[in-house]
This record gives sequence, structure tokens and C-alpha cells, in this order.
Amino acid sequence: MKEKVIDRRGFLKMGVKAGGGVLALSAIPIHLMAQDKVTEDEALAQAMGYVLDATTTDTKKFPKRAGDAGASQFCDNCALFSGEADAEFAPCSIFQNRLVAGKGWCNAWVAKT
Ligand code: SF4
Repeated sequence: MKEKVIDRRGFLKMGVKAGGGVLALSAIPIHLMAQDKVTEDEALAQAMGYVLDATTTDTKKFPKRAGDAGASQFCDNCALFSGEADAEFAPCSIFQNRLVAGKGWCNAWVAKT
């Protein structure tokens, strides 16, 4: 097996190329690297009754959110919401950790303990 000898100049060139790659990655706007938000019209969202605004839940179709107990259910107090209680959006494991609205809701809601 032939070994490749890299002189100092070649080594420095490699470093510049690698550094350029890091610079290129850091130039990607942060919002493009962020996770995307779940939308209400997606198949899984529709099946789960996910809505961005929990108060718009169709409680005939999803009676779990009906009544006083149901009215207190929001993504931001669900055990599967992995954000702060006042987060506008945070990842939800039901949706492969894509972002759901803090004031949203779906039929998989589980009380935080
Ligand atoms: S599982 Fe919980 S956090 Fe996720 S969408 Fe449903 S109610 Fe919101």
C-alpha cells in the first residue's frame, strides 16, 4: 500500500478547505436548520385532531377535549411537549419531534406529571 506524504503546504491547504466547509455550514441561516412546524392539513395531524389553536378543536369528533377538564388541555401542558410551559412552539414526540404549537392540542394529549 502506497502512503501519501503530505508536506506542510499541502497540510495547510487541507486545513483551509476544511475550514471553508465549516464556514459554509455556519453561513446557513439558522431558521433553515430549525425543525419544521406540523401543519393541520397533514395526514397524521388530521388523524390525531391536531390544531394550532386548541380552542378550535372539534369536540364532537374529539370529545376528550370537551367540558371543563378538556378545556384545560393544551400542548404546553402535555407530557409529550418538550418545551417550556410558555414556549410558542416546541418538539412533540408524536410528530417525530417536529414543532407543535404551545396553545395547540391533539387527541394524544397526556397530562404532565
Ligand atoms: S401529543 Fe401533546 S404536545 Fe403533542 S400535539 Fe398532541 S397534545 Fe400537543
